[in-house]
Amino acid sequence: MDTQMLIGSRFEKGTETDEHILNPKTGETVIDLPEASLSQIDAAVDAAEKTFVSWSQTTPSERSGYLLKIADAIEKDAAGFATLEALNCGKPINAVLNDEIPAIVDCYRFFAGAVRNLHAPAAGEYLPGHTSMIRRDPIGVVGSIAPWNYPLMMMAWKLAPAIAGGNTVVFKPSEQTPLTALKMAKLLSDILPEGVVNVILGRGESVGNALINHPKIGMISITGDIATGKKVLQAAAKTVKRTHLELGGKAPVIVFDDADIDAVVSGIRTFGYYNAGQDCTAACRIYADARVYDNFVADLSSAVSSIRFNQADDTENEIGPLISRRQRDRVESFVARASEHKHMEITTGGAVSGDRGFFFTPTVIAGALQDDEIVRREVFGPVVSVTRFSQADDAIAWANDSDYGLASSVWTRDIGRGMKTAARLQYGCTWINTHFMLVNEMPHGGLKQSGYGKDMSVYALEDYTAVRHVMINHG
Ligand code: NAD
Repeated sequence: MDTQMLIGSRFEKGTETDEHILNPKTGETVIDLPEASLSQIDAAVDAAEKTFVSWSQTTPSERSGYLLKIADAIEKDAAGFATLEALNCGKPINAVLNDEIPAIVDCYRFFAGAVRNLHAPAAGEYLPGHTSMIRRDPIGVVGSIAPWNYPLMMMAWKLAPAIAGGNTVVFKPSEQTPLTALKMAKLLSDILPEGVVNVILGRGESVGNALINHPKIGMISITGDIATGKKVLQAAAKTVKRTHLELGGKAPVIVFDDADIDAVVSGIRTFGYYNAGQDCTAACRIYADARVYDNFVADLSSAVSSIRFNQADDTENEIGPLISRRQRDRVESFVARASEHKHMEITTGGAVSGDRGFFFTPTVIAGALQDDEIVRREVFGPVVSVTRFSQADDAIAWANDSDYGLASSVWTRDIGRGMKTAARLQYGCTWINTHFMLVNEMPHGGLKQSGYGKDMSVYALEDYTAVRHVMINHG
């Protein structure tokens, strides 16, 4: 297991407080890893700043070559990465190996191609006697801060467009899930020039806080909680840093009466509970037409009760535990508060499962109303609420009545109705008759308090580069 941070070309341990890295399936400590000191953070930023001079002058083709090598190396060691990610996050090994790793490899390959194909207005004489052209140039040192729900994938979403665009990076994984980032550090140091990517460890309030306030960092990219995003904005205001924010979500799902209910049930069983619901796009807030509501709730509850988890043979598992005892307790408290209301019914699940690890039984809460906490706040666990509607306009208004604006879906056999509804939803993404599916060619990112940074797609490359105008006087 790799245990050292990467600062320039040096591998070293942090010198500050130990963080206990846990196995969420058992609650046992896997390893203790110390966090970086302020001087180690400075050294990582200095290494990134020094390398920026040469890295920013490499051609797109050269950087593309490096990204393709990174993709190949991850693919070659897919089993090693998947095993470590499963250990640190409690994810079922098959989910990491078959879903996440191929998407991660494809992310590096996508940006390897995309950086060679950036578009801009044609160069031309917009002022007589002067030629204008657009350049897209890197920003400088990017401070990247990742969450715990998809550690390796979030690292890919952040590193690939940043380094493809010619930036250098100081990357901090979540203090709870640093193991695959340390393995990546080893892989990256074998491929990239020193200093292009630096990996440091530590908690948000110490190391994260030092990064977002660092005067030599030109851009902060963070995926995390809304409250964390607001702290980033406050810190960024001091030196007018660029920010790339991917914050939480509370995805509404509108189920019309003409939807294929079997498909909806099967979809929500997967997309509401994948990664134990620790997903910012999880299909967690359902609005079902009153004409199909009763059958839908019955079928969904029955389907959800069959989700397999906490089996001794991990290849049987569809979902894992929550990431930590704190997160499990948080999920449990949401469900306990909901169960105190007479109008809501827990139709399946609703309890902590087992006495080892941080498992929570997949849960459906029926009869929820728009103002209920369970409808409004992000739970980030295997809990889905169902709310009855009679008028389509109400369902759309309720779906939009949220601080969040990341993802949403509409289920109907009438494509016109699906398109009209999608047009009215204020979300970064709307799926019709599916949910959750992402592709590297298309952007992922939010509206409202879900943030405004775009991951994946050419829009991410645009976020990680600055548009510049160069004008030549013909003389
Ligand atoms: P979090 O905000 O607690 O932590 C995210 C990262 O920010 C961690 O690395 C943490 O150390 C760091 N951090 C925390 N406080 C900081 C501070 N003051 N200064 C600098 N860095 C700080 O979030 P989490 O609990 O790790 O992740 C769950 C959250 O992330 C959920 O709200 C979820 O919706 C969101 N999320 C969003 C997306 C998206 O694409 N929009 C994807 C995954 C997760």
